[in-house]
Amino acid sequence: MTDSPSTTSSILITDIGLLSTQTERGDIEDAAFVIEGGRIAWIGAQSSAPSADIRWSASGRCVIPGFVDSHAHLVFAGERSAEFAARMAGQSYSAGGIASTVSATRAASDEELQRTVAALVAELLASGVTTFEIKSGYGLTVHDEQRSLSIASDFTPETTFLGAHVVPAEFRDDPGGYVDLVTGDMLDSCRVHARWVDVFCDRGAFDGDQARAILSAGIEAGLLPRVHANQLQHGPGVQLAVEMDAASADHCTYLDDADIDALANSQTVATVLPGAEFSTRSPYPDARRMLDAGVTMAIATDCNPGSSFTTSMPWCISMAVREMHMTPAEAVTAATLGGARALRRDDVGRITQGARADFIVLDAPSPIYLAYRPGVNVIAEVWRNGELVEANSSSDKEASADG
Ligand SMILES: [Zn+2]
Repeated sequence: MTDSPSTTSSILITDIGLLSTQTERGDIEDAAFVIEGGRIAWIGAQSSAPSADIRWSASGRCVIPGFVDSHAHLVFAGERSAEFAARMAGQSYSAGGIASTVSATRAASDEELQRTVAALVAELLASGVTTFEIKSGYGLTVHDEQRSLSIASDFTPETTFLGAHVVPAEFRDDPGGYVDLVTGDMLDSCRVHARWVDVFCDRGAFDGDQARAILSAGIEAGLLPRVHANQLQHGPGVQLAVEMDAASADHCTYLDDADIDALANSQTVATVLPGAEFSTRSPYPDARRMLDAGVTMAIATDCNPGSSFTTSMPWCISMAVREMHMTPAEAVTAATLGGARALRRDDVGRITQGARADFIVLDAPSPIYLAYRPGVNVIAEVWRNGELVEANSSSDKEASADG
């Protein structure tokens, strides 16, 4: 194995047994593509591939776009394994468990929070995630939300202000006062570090009117909306997301026909988070019903210490297939192109000329293996911006250890 190619040379990725483009071109057998300056410069049949400075063989394996994780809560301290064990022993989930993470996060140093984010980002990359969103939401003071987003923005441009995660204990008797803080001083301090504004619109968190006020203030401040909607019960979250042209309504577990109609006739993506239902032993959303109605869907990890402590997109894909009745192909699309749509990005989530050269070489002949081999690592290589950033085969690991 040679040194990792750099973005200064053109690279021909060749011997691709099956290339899943996630474009109208569909899957291409015996494919190749050229990377220049971190972008895809040419794509087509291997037999007609142009030459390039470096030739890199996929050895007949399958290549898919890098995963796009549009929903992750990575800035936190502490852990809640005991709460997980208690749920598995029969206790039910409530939004209130977030409070223990808030206490730990407020007490943590910036360095501790940075280390946690860096470790989780490394896990995401190893699982094939090349674009990811990070939310605040465990600080819930002006200072702690601001520093959470400042830390997050060192890792990704897709940062989300989630001051409206839950009402913190000190505002228990004055939730209106907390909404005023979120839409006032907190938003003022956080807006420069955030691209998105989010609200947990559900039982035990924020109601429809509060959520509308928070999203409206965020939009007024130049942020783009997304919503935690209809996770714990049927509520106004999905309709609100569509009304405000949110990029995504996330969870979508309890939907009625009107919600599905609204999503299908909107630009709002329905993002499902199988880790949350798994870890709270809750009913899974009916992805089949949404897909059949024409709703655009994404799959995300929801990585957080309370209700979904996973960074594995392949595992999320296998759960969406098994428990939400997506086909393997639909699930892979949701984890790539769907995630990109949920972040309103057209430069990632697909392999096409001009797109960022973010892709995964699977140790498999087809993407079906992501669900067909649950819990087995089939991610052989991860490339980001045209650079090899992860190589999981044993021979590659030896090569990088030597280098
Ligand atoms: Zn979430």
